[in-house]
Amino acid sequence: MTAPHAPRDGAGAPAPAADLRSRHRAVLPDWLTLLYERPIELTHGEGRHVWDADGNRYLDFFGGILTTMTAHALPEVTKAVADQAGRILHTSTLYLSRPMVELAERIAALSGIPDARVFFTTSGTEANDTALLLATAYRGSNQILAMRNSYHGRSFSTVGITGNASWSPTGLSPLQTLYVHGGVRGRGPYAGLSDAAYIDACVADLEDMLGQTAGVAALIAEPVQGVGGFTSPPDGLYAAFREVLDRHGILWISDEVQTGWGRTGDHFWGWQAHAGNGPPDLLTFAKGIGNGMSVGGVVARAEVMNCLGANSVSTFGGSPVTMAAALANLDHLLAHDLQGNARRVGGPLVKRLRAAGAELGIVREVRGRGLMIGVELVAPDTGQPSPRAANLVLEAARERGLLIGKGGLAGAALRIAPPLSLTAEEAAQGAEILTESLR
Ligand code: PLP
Repeated sequence: MTAPHAPRDGAGAPAPAADLRSRHRAVLPDWLTLLYERPIELTHGEGRHVWDADGNRYLDFFGGILTTMTAHALPEVTKAVADQAGRILHTSTLYLSRPMVELAERIAALSGIPDARVFFTTSGTEANDTALLLATAYRGSNQILAMRNSYHGRSFSTVGITGNASWSPTGLSPLQTLYVHGGVRGRGPYAGLSDAAYIDACVADLEDMLGQTAGVAALIAEPVQGVGGFTSPPDGLYAAFREVLDRHGILWISDEVQTGWGRTGDHFWGWQAHAGNGPPDLLTFAKGIGNGMSVGGVVARAEVMNCLGANSVSTFGGSPVTMAAALANLDHLLAHDLQGNARRVGGPLVKRLRAAGAELGIVREVRGRGLMIGVELVAPDTGQPSPRAANLVLEAARERGLLIGKGGLAGAALRIAPPLSLTAEEAAQGAEILTESLR
C-alpha cells in the first residue's frame, strides 16, 4: 500500500490513465456517475474535439453535459480568463466588479423579463434553489409544482422537485412536491410516477390539481427535459399552463439550464416556444454560458427578486473570472450566430439519424431541437426501453472516437449535444459513427 504522503511516481507528472482508473474508487463516492465502465481521463480539448490521457482523440457530442457551449479552448474565453485572473481572482458579491455588472446587464436585456434583476450563482442547482426561495418568499408558500421526469439539480430542495425517483439519492423527496401530468395528483415522495410521456390532458390535470390544492407558489419546468432524455412538450404547453397559473397567482419558473442561449435552434430561450403570454416570471440558467466555467443564475422582475427580507451574500457567485469568461463566450455566440448554426446543422443531423434509425430495430424515436437531440433505444425483441443498448452504443461510439451522453426516464436515451459551433462535416462524421455504433 502507498504511504498517505508518498510522492507520486514521476514527481508531479500527471499519472497515466490506467493508474487513475485503479485509484479513483478509493477516494471518490461509489454513487458518482462515470459515463464509461472504463473511465476516460480527459486531458485537453480544442474546438469540438477532446483528447484522453491515452492519446485518443474524440469528437465531442456531449460538450461536458451541455456546458461547452461554443467550443473547447475558445481563444476569446481563455484570454478573458487569463486577463481577469491576472487582475483579481475573487471579489464575492460584497463588492462590485465590472464583468459582473456588465454580464447582468446583458442577461437582463436578453431574458425578455421586464424590469429584470439577475442574481449569479455557481451552478444550476443553486440557481434553482434560489428561484424556489424567491417563489416561496413572494407567495408565502413552499408548495411547488413540478413536471414528471424533470431534473432540476441534486441539492436537498432541487431533488425534491426532480420528478423521477431514480434520480433521488435517497429515493425520497424532501419536499411536498406536486407533480403535473398523467393523472398524478399525489404529493411527494414521487407519488405514483409512471413513464408516460407528455399527454394532451395536461392542462386538465393542472386545473384539477389546483382545484384540490390551495396556496401553490410556483410551477417549475424545463422547456425541453434534459436529463429526461431531450423530450419536448408540445409547443405552447406552458402558455396554456400560464393562463391557469395566472388565474391562481402562481409563478412560472422556466429552468433554462440546458435550453438557454440558442441551443434549441429556433429560439434563444426554451420558453419562447411557449410564449403565448410572454416570458416566465423567473428564469434560471447555468451550464453553457460559462463555456466550462461555473456560472449560474436566476432572473426575475424586480418585484419578485427583491422580496427576500434577509441579507444574502454569495461567496463565489458573480466571480469576476467566470463573469469575464461568460461575457466573452456570449459575445462569440451572438457574433457567430451559433443559434442559427444549431438550427442549420441540427436539422439535417436529426434527419440523418432518423433515416438510419428507421432501418434499425433498436431505435424507437429520434427527437430533437437544434443541437439537443435524443435517440430513444429499445430492445428489438421486446420493444421495451433498453438501457443496456444505450450502454453498448455508448461504448461502441467511444471505440470509434465519438463521445455522447445518455439519459431518459429508463436510461435508454442517447443524448447528443455538441458545442454549438459544430460544422456540417463534423455532424456528418458523428452521424456516421453513431449509425455504425447502432448497428
Ligand atoms: N436544471 C437542469 C435542467 C439540469 O439539466 C441540471 C443539470 O444537469 C441542473 C438544473 C443542475 O445543474 P448543475 O449540475 O449545474 O447543478
